[in-house]
Amino acid sequence: TPVISLREVSVTYPGPPPVHALVGANVAILPGEYVTVVGPSGSGKSTFLNIVGLLDEPTSGTYELNGSDTSTLTEKERTGLRGHDIGFVFQSFHLLNYRSAVENVELALLYNSTDPSRRTELALSALHQVGLDHRVNSLPNQLSGGERQRVAIARAIVGNPSVVLCDEPTGNLDSRTAKDVLDILRDLHQQGLTIIVITHDPGVAAQGRRTLRITDGHLREESA
Ligand code: ADP
Ligand code: ADP
Repeated sequence: TPVISLREVSVTYPGPPPVHALVGANVAILPGEYVTVVGPSGSGKSTFLNIVGLLDEPTSGTYELNGSDTSTLTEKERTGLRGHDIGFVFQSFHLLNYRSAVENVELALLYNSTDPSRRTELALSALHQVGLDHRVNSLPNQLSGGERQRVAIARAIVGNPSVVLCDEPTGNLDSRTAKDVLDILRDLHQQGLTIIVITHDPGVAAQGRRTLRITDGHLREESA
C-alpha cells in the first residue's frame, strides 16, 4: 500500500477571484521513497504540503494516508496523525528556546500514547540517529543552525512516523550546513523512512530518488 495516495486532488481558494492552487493531482508514494517536490514560487508547493500534512483538506478528490481515506477523519484525528504518523521539518526549525534539545524532542511525544517513562529514552535515541549525542542538554541558542535543524529532524522522527515532510529544510542554512542536513535525511531514507522534501533549490532536489514538479497547480513526474 502507498503511504500517500492522491487521486484527482484539487484545491481551490475561494477568492474572489478563485485560485486553482492544485489541479487534479495524482500521485502515489510508496514506503521508503525519497521524493522531492519542486516548482517556482506560487506554483502550489505549500498547498500540496498542507494537504499531505493534513493541515488542509482538498476541495475535491481523494487523499489516502496508509490506505485510509482522510476525508472521514475528525479534526481531532487529523491533529493526532500530525506529528505522529507525519513528522514535520520546517525551514525555521520551530524549537522552543528555553528547552534543551532532548526536551524539545520529548515534547513531540506529549500528545501520543507513549509511556512518559519512555519519552526520554526515545528522544535520546532520535538525537543519536541525527548525530547529536554530545548536544542533548544544549539549548537551541547554544547550537549552530545545522544542529538546530538536526534537533528538529529528531523531533520529527521520534514518534516513528510513516512519512517525514520537510518544507525547505535547508532554506536558512549555508551550503555546508545544508549538506550536513541533507546527509542526515539520506541516512534516514537508508534506514527505511519515507521522506518528502519541498524545495526550490535544485541541489536539494537532486537528492531525491524521484522528483515531482508543480507548475501552476499541475503536478507531474519530473523525467530523469
Ligand atoms: P508555493 O508554495 O509553490 O509558493 P502556494 O501553494 O503557496 O505556492 O500557492 C499556490 C497559489 O495559491 C498561489 O497563487 C497563491 O497565491 C495561492 N494561495 C495560497 N494560499 C492561498 C490562500 N489562503 N488564499 C488564496 N490564495 C492562496
Ligand atoms: P517557512 O518555511 O516560511 O519558514 P514555516 O516553516 O514556519 O514557514 O511554516 C510552514 C507552514 O507550516 C506554515 O503554513 C505554518 O502554518 C505551518 N506550521 C508551522 N508550524 C507548525 C506545526 N508545529 N505543526 C503544523 N504546522 C505548522
